Amino acid sequence: MNFDLTPEQDQLRDAVRALGRKYGHGYFVEKAKAGAHTTELWQEAGRLGYLGVNIPTEYGGGGGGITELAIVCEELAAAGCPLLLLVVSPAIAATVINKHGTDEQRKRHLPGLADGSRKIVFAITEPEAGSNFHRLGTVARRDGDDWLLTGRKCYISGVDEAGHVLVVARVAVGDGSAGSADASPQKLKPALFIVPTDAPGLEKSKLDMEILSPENQFLLYLDDVRLPADALVGESLDAGLPALFAGLNPERITVAAMGAGTGRYAIERASAYTATRKVWGGRSIGTHQGVAHPLAHAAVQVELARLMIHKAATLYDAGRDLEAGVAGNMAKYAAGEAAALAVDTAVQALGGAGMTTEYGVATLLGAVRAGRIAPVSREMILNFVAQHVLGQDKSY
Ligand SMILES: Cc1cc2nc3c(=O)[nH]c(=O)nc-3n(C[C@H](O)[C@H](O)[C@H](O)COP(=O)(O)OP(=O)(O)OC[C@H]3O[C@@H](n4cnc5c(N)ncnc54)[C@H](O)[C@@H]3O)c2cc1C
Repeated sequence: MNFDLTPEQDQLRDAVRALGRKYGHGYFVEKAKAGAHTTELWQEAGRLGYLGVNIPTEYGGGGGGITELAIVCEELAAAGCPLLLLVVSPAIAATVINKHGTDEQRKRHLPGLADGSRKIVFAITEPEAGSNFHRLGTVARRDGDDWLLTGRKCYISGVDEAGHVLVVARVAVGDGSAGSADASPQKLKPALFIVPTDAPGLEKSKLDMEILSPENQFLLYLDDVRLPADALVGESLDAGLPALFAGLNPERITVAAMGAGTGRYAIERASAYTATRKVWGGRSIGTHQGVAHPLAHAAVQVELARLMIHKAATLYDAGRDLEAGVAGNMAKYAAGEAAALAVDTAVQALGGAGMTTEYGVATLLGAVRAGRIAPVSREMILNFVAQHVLGQDKSY
């Protein structure tokens, strides 16, 4: 068991930390309040190669794995810049296209994803289906060589910043009629499509969210969106299910890393404050265990989550997908809870200052609260652990 990062990973962490601190939480909040995006940070991170650390070198990436991308997510968040688009674009979209796309799709999309000039967001959630992906109602049907995509998606992050959206849909296969080329009973297979965000028939509508973030969520309406044959990820419909699963572990691990980084950021801010703030004579408020212990407790929770993230990323990069699935879900659960605890505890430790914009912790309350719901809720992770680790029957 090795708890150390490699010298290269250490260097990456230091360099990303320096970049994050150059921008800082003030920059993140200013952009969010102005309704703007963190474009400068994104572009600089892209130029420095941090957005493509997990993309193969032949496509302009760093040739590393999810361990490296988790470092980038964590360190930017630890500097007060938690970027959700790192989770959807390099973690989910780049992994899916790299592992299951065609050669042509890899060549077309990966270099831009690696240098950050291209963003691809991810759309699976639907209003009617929610956590139950078996109920997805977005369908793709053939029209000659083309595909026509129809359905609705909700809470889709970053559509306004991205050139493409990776849409999870279902395709009917087998027409069930005797004598036809495919007489098997008709069933719906999942399939992923790379859809330009300016495609005719695709409309977006921004959702008002109570999260202070420069990244926005959208409702998407797809009304017979016409796509060429090669918009389908992979060579055939058989790529759909594995492609969908390919994005899950990177998503869980990197979002967990973002949570752990946010937790570290909040605890660091609060500790700096409580170590110097004096309201009872000469002693700092951090001397009081009623202030210090909750912060110490939160620090323990964040560190435990970081250990699980490291384990999950190591297993994933070693190709041990099933074990990484368990560890990744546990890491996401642990980090989501730890981040929410850390930010709430930090706000309390700062007293009134905790609620100001200036001290920069309450600004994260909405984001960490959402981290217990998205991209997979704490309850769905507990369901997963109950079934796959504890051997319990499924209740739903
Ligand atoms: C900030 C943010 C960004 C997001 N970005 C994206 C994105 O980019 N792309 C995308 O596709 N989606 C995105 N989502 C959607 C997110 O993944 C979903 O909100 C999440 O998966 C939960 O689905 P739901 O909201 O439909 O909740 P529901 O499925 O309606 O669930 C509501 C509640 O019931 C619980 N619940 C449901 N079923 C069970 C069960 N069987 N057992 C126990 N409890 C259960 C849930 O845990 C939850 O607490 C985002 C959401 C947010 C908040």
